[in-house]
Amino acid sequence: MLAGDVVVWSVPLRTRFRGLDVRDGVLVRGDAGWAEFSPFWDYDDAESAGWWRATREAADQGWPAPVRDRVPVNVTVPAVDAATAHGIVTGSGGCRTAKVKVAERGQSLADEVARLEAVRDALGPGGAIRVDANAAWDVEEAVRRLAVLDRAAGGLEYAEQPVPGVADLAALRRRTHVPLAADESIRRAADPLAVARAHAADVVVLKVQPLGGVRACLELAERIGLPVVVSSALESSVGLAAGVALAAALPELPYACGLATAQLLGADLVTAPLLPVDGALPVRRTEPDPALVAAAAADDTTSRRWRRRVAAVRALADARDQA
Ligand SMILES: [Mg+2]
Repeated sequence: MLAGDVVVWSVPLRTRFRGLDVRDGVLVRGDAGWAEFSPFWDYDDAESAGWWRATREAADQGWPAPVRDRVPVNVTVPAVDAATAHGIVTGSGGCRTAKVKVAERGQSLADEVARLEAVRDALGPGGAIRVDANAAWDVEEAVRRLAVLDRAAGGLEYAEQPVPGVADLAALRRRTHVPLAADESIRRAADPLAVARAHAADVVVLKVQPLGGVRACLELAERIGLPVVVSSALESSVGLAAGVALAAALPELPYACGLATAQLLGADLVTAPLLPVDGALPVRRTEPDPALVAAAAADDTTSRRWRRRVAAVRALADARDQA
């Protein structure tokens, strides 16, 4: 990887998401092309080492050959009001699956019901609706809320991480007919296989950067043995291409993937962003556009912060490789 080629970018989000108003990261270049490194700031250097492995794979090695040329994706509906939710789905580029954020602090169950009804209205009866609660509930609360949300949605495809932890997921799974997907229990867990051993989920969400790259995810998917939904970590279209590469290389892809998140960014780094057409993303690598990268250049403070972070994480990852 070329040490000189580190570009720090920062773009606004269209809607507050995951508590963020801005998304930032770096691009680095290697023999295989440009790659993104963009761990969220709540990941420390040790946790970010996996993200760096994914970056290095993209920059130095590239990705395994695809087995499909398009990847069906879901539209992501943040914790917005019903009318906005309706508009997001109808303007989604033909997505037939919607992932709706629930359990937002300060909102009521009635807000969530209204959002889900609006999404069902926009999708029509043939669409699929999933919710993501980001581990906000306990088991009792999840049993109660999922029953209400399932009715409001006219049937949920699945609920993503309604409760924290593998034991809670397994307990909830015995008490609800709504299928469950594990996300945080895979990507931030010491043992990502625990979900499968405990029969705690019907589906697993895999994200390329936190899990250390496309090849690492393919291997993990094989060992877990459950259907995989590939999701983004809210990357620019440079980083999203790695998620698309994973989704394109998986032997089976029964669900729409959570990779249509370029829509959430106020600006992107490539001239043809990875946006859905007829509900799917094309399988291709993306090249950053110098003018767009310059327009998204981070301020000096953010740039210094990222350069320090890259140096620290890189040193940590190199030391681990040599150990
Ligand atoms: Mg999630």
